[in-house]
Amino acid sequence: MRIILFGPPGSGKGTQGELVEKKYGLPRISTGDLLRQAVADKTPLGLKAEAMMNGGRLVSDDIVEDLVRERTAEPDCHKGYLLDGFPRNIAQARSLEAMDPKRPEIVIEIDVGLDILVKRLESRRICVGCGAVYNNKLQPSKNEERCDSCGSPLHQRKDDQPEVIRERMRVYREQTEKLREYYLAKKVYTRVDGTGTVEEVFSRISRYLDRELVQAGSIKGLP
Ligand code: AMP
Repeated sequence: MRIILFGPPGSGKGTQGELVEKKYGLPRISTGDLLRQAVADKTPLGLKAEAMMNGGRLVSDDIVEDLVRERTAEPDCHKGYLLDGFPRNIAQARSLEAMDPKRPEIVIEIDVGLDILVKRLESRRICVGCGAVYNNKLQPSKNEERCDSCGSPLHQRKDDQPEVIRERMRVYREQTEKLREYYLAKKVYTRVDGTGTVEEVFSRISRYLDRELVQAGSIKGLP
């Protein structure tokens, strides 16, 4: 099984993806995380991707497709995987099918209104040590500057600045949103309300996944 989580920046794909990974035991592949790691490690790929990411634009299809092809070929992905942030356009969706054509798909769009998204992104802070995500306004750490679990400093992603957020939203509307029609036509698409608490959104997602995965025979029924 291949689960694809998509939704605009700030919709909670990363947070929900981690919960799905934990509950269903499918490895989460986040192209954003893979690219940020490559940038931090200053690999040739990271150096190529950095300017595009900082400007809120999409990194070239070839680069992300290679990352996904390599990662999904690893043994832990054999029984299935969860994609977070890939595909971002129709060309990537087609290329995903070509690289792993027989795998059944479940596509979930996390739907959140623009006003909430901007608020979430502008005040998002990430721990430089363990990657925990906070929000200065909605879910602050106890000590504003440091992570509750590991004590490392918190930082703001470069692409969470207001003008870059606008560009990311524009790219989403122009390219990524087209995936809705594409996956609707394949009859593998569902939309989940992404407003409310993390737990509320996850219970909507897992209700849907429990049903779909049992039907697909991927899990035998859950407690
Ligand atoms: P994310 O963490 O998913 O918000 O991704 C952060 C940034 O990484 C995006 O704004 C893009 O610049 C880049 N990126 C992540 N996934 C992709 C993708 N599938 N295709 C192209 N660029 C991507």
